[in-house]
Amino acid sequence: MRLILMGPPGAGKGTQARFVADHFGVPAISTGDIFRANVSRGTPLGIEAQRYMDAGEYVPDEVTNKMVRNRIDEDDAKPGFLLDGYPRTLAQVTELDGMIAFTGHRLDAVVVLTVDPEELVQRLIHRAQTDGRADDTEDVIRRRQEVYAEQTAPLIEVYRGRGICIEVDGMGEVDDVTTRIFDALDVVPQS
Ligand code: ADP
Repeated sequence: MRLILMGPPGAGKGTQARFVADHFGVPAISTGDIFRANVSRGTPLGIEAQRYMDAGEYVPDEVTNKMVRNRIDEDDAKPGFLLDGYPRTLAQVTELDGMIAFTGHRLDAVVVLTVDPEELVQRLIHRAQTDGRADDTEDVIRRRQEVYAEQTAPLIEVYRGRGICIEVDGMGEVDDVTTRIFDALDVVPQS
């Protein structure tokens, strides 16, 4: 299975990505997690990414694309993968198409988690209090929502046009959302 999990910040992508990846026996690849790991290790990639992340802006496409290409090339991703947080721009969509075409496979589905805007802000404020993520301050939360609306929401139309987009209601209990995602994906033929 080659899957993308999309949705605005706070939609629950990270939480659901792990369950979905386990269910299909593929790695969950989260660009946000890879960036954060690099920031905490103080690598050159982390140093470069940090200033964008702290401002709620996207890391430049060349940097992100290269990182994902390297990750997808690893052995555990050969049977498939679930991408969480990538692609986020049209340029990344094109790049990912190239990466997948190169392997002779195809993208099976794009799951879009939908959540009320007010609920999103509440969830992120709660996460700020419990996890203390550096980019969960009110201004940055607001900026991340704007950037998502401007740069990432248009990607949904692209995948809808290809007939591989599945919208799943992301409101309610975590388990219920997981069940909805499984039900939607279990009927998708695996490539
Ligand atoms: P969120 O909870 O806001 O969806 P993530 O943990 O997925 O956040 O990502 C955190 C930050 O990492 C983003 O705000 C952005 O700066 C950077 N980032 C993650 N994925 C990408 C990407 N595909 N392209 C550019 N920047 C990214």
